[in-house]
Amino acid sequence: MIPRREVFPQVIEMNYQARRRLGCCVYLVYSGPDWLLIDIGYEDTVPEIIDLIRGMDFQLANCKYLLASHADVDHVQGLAKIKEVLPNAVTVGHPEAVELLNSTDRISTYAEIPAQGISIDMPQIQLERPVNEGDFIELGDKKLKVWHTPGHTNSQLSFRLDNLLFSGDNLFRDGCVGNIDAHHGSDIPDFIKSLERIRDCDVEWLLPSHGPIFRKDAIMIQKTIDRLETYLHMADFGTCAIDWPLLEEWDNELLKGFDESQA
Ligand SMILES: [Zn+2]
Repeated sequence: MIPRREVFPQVIEMNYQARRRLGCCVYLVYSGPDWLLIDIGYEDTVPEIIDLIRGMDFQLANCKYLLASHADVDHVQGLAKIKEVLPNAVTVGHPEAVELLNSTDRISTYAEIPAQGISIDMPQIQLERPVNEGDFIELGDKKLKVWHTPGHTNSQLSFRLDNLLFSGDNLFRDGCVGNIDAHHGSDIPDFIKSLERIRDCDVEWLLPSHGPIFRKDAIMIQKTIDRLETYLHMADFGTCAIDWPLLEEWDNELLKGFDESQA
């Protein structure tokens, strides 16, 4: 048996377990013999993840849930493949993720970014259990509380387990956030609300979907919120911004006519 390199009691993260980067963070939570996974990543890492799980002496038949933090291809492409070896595990996600993955929406899931020549497989998967804000996912003596934390995408969920928050693509250790993109359904005001909620909650640790685990730091989160507040008024963020103050200035200048001394 391979030692279980727990990051917190009964929580294992597969990149930390492998001691190398496999892809997005894949969390295994267990209680007694039962276990669940939060995200799975790309298809091509599924065999290695299954080997690691077997090596740590978890029984495949005891996987209760496969959770999708959201519907992006880098988090869920491997779901259909892992479901083949874990047929009893119930697939879980936000209702919007259910739709996106059922219809294999290639744009919203980032399987297809035509302008960058990105086109990768996105196997269809039927998420069996839709969950939303306030729901609980029970695993033995553990209870994960579902938080709906939209912003990066509307299907973004976080999962709270005691003083831990599996925080998805809301925030990374360097203060970066998940991609903001109109074609992805990103919403900056929602994003700010989700970050404020995380800032104000009493969890101690954030377990993100990319990069290292980190301690929740309200000051650092506030810096990120302040940055996103500026995005609301910047043309750089296109239709994700709510206004562009330069347009008002322009309106005023148009009324007065071009004035070289003001330009
Ligand atoms: Zn992501």
